[in-house]
Amino acid sequence: MKLALLGPEERRYSELRLLKEAKKVFETVTYFPISKLVLEFDEKEVKILYRGKNILEYDALLPRIPKSYMKFGYLLLCFAREQKIPIPISPESVLYTHNKFLTLIALAQANVPIPKTYLSLKRATLEKILENIKYPVVLKLLYGCAGKGVMFADSKQSAISIMDMLEAFKQPVFVEEFIKNPGEDIRAFVIGEELVACMKRKAKKGERRANIAAGGVGEKYEAGDEERDLALRAAKALGMKVAAVDILPGKKKYVIEVNVYPGLKGIENATGINVARKIVEKVYELATSV
Ligand code: ADP
Repeated sequence: MKLALLGPEERRYSELRLLKEAKKVFETVTYFPISKLVLEFDEKEVKILYRGKNILEYDALLPRIPKSYMKFGYLLLCFAREQKIPIPISPESVLYTHNKFLTLIALAQANVPIPKTYLSLKRATLEKILENIKYPVVLKLLYGCAGKGVMFADSKQSAISIMDMLEAFKQPVFVEEFIKNPGEDIRAFVIGEELVACMKRKAKKGERRANIAAGGVGEKYEAGDEERDLALRAAKALGMKVAAVDILPGKKKYVIEVNVYPGLKGIENATGINVARKIVEKVYELATSV
C-alpha cells in the first residue's frame, strides 16, 4: 500500500509525526509539498506530479492543507476524488473550514448549535443590531487562525471602532454572540465515527482566547456524551473523517470551529494519545476497503 502525504513545504511537528507513523503502517510513503506540485492534464489524463511521482497512482491520500493553499488544495483533492483515491476529508471541507462563516453555515444546516452570528460587508448595516446586542461581542476575521483575528468588544463604541478598522482593510464584518465561559474551550479530535482524543484549553490569565498559540494551556479532558455527539455531528456535517472540533463549554454547548489543518503537538502532549497513528490507521482502513 502506498500513501501520499500532502502538505506544506516546511514539515513541522504534525507532518513529521504523520510521516513517522505512516511508515510503520504503509509500505511506501511519499511526502508531496503542495507548492512544488505540477498539475499536468489534457482531455484524456490528469497527473499531479512531484519529482516524477504521480499522486494519482497512490492507494490513499492524506492531505494537510493550510489556508494559504486552500484553493489549489481543493482542486487537487477534486482530481483525486475523481480518480476514486481514498481521502479522509471531502475537498469541500478545505474551503469550508478555512472560512469561519462557511463553517458555521454548514454546522447550522446540520442543526449543530453555533453562536448567533452576523456577517455584513459594511459596518453601517449592523448599527441597529449593535444597539440591541448583549456585550461583550466577538468580532472575527473570516480567515483567522490560532486566535489571531479574534477580538472582543465590551461596548458598542469599541465594536464600531473595530468594525471601522475591518472595513478600512476591506474585511467583511463578522460578529458573533459572546458565549459565557470560564476562559476555556474543548478541542475534540474526531477520527471516523470516534472521538479519539480530547483536551480542554485554558486561556492564560487576562486573556479570553483559549488558543495554545495565545498562551493557553491544554490538559486531557473526558468528553461527555453531549460533547462527543456535537463533535461527531460537526465532523460529519463538513464531510470529514479526520477533524479537530472546537466546542465552547457551559450549560449549553456550542461548536465554534472545525479544523482541517490541526496541529497534533498540543493534543498528543496533553492526552498522551498517539493521534498521528490513529489518523494513519484510519487512512489505511479507507485504502483497504475500496
Ligand atoms: P481561531 O480559529 O483563531 O482559533 P476561534 O473562533 O476558535 O478562532 O476562537 C479563538 C478562541 O476565542 C476560542 O478558543 C475561544 O476561547 C474564544 N472564542 C471564540 N469565539 C467565541 C465566542 N463566540 N464566545 C466566547 N469566546 C469565544
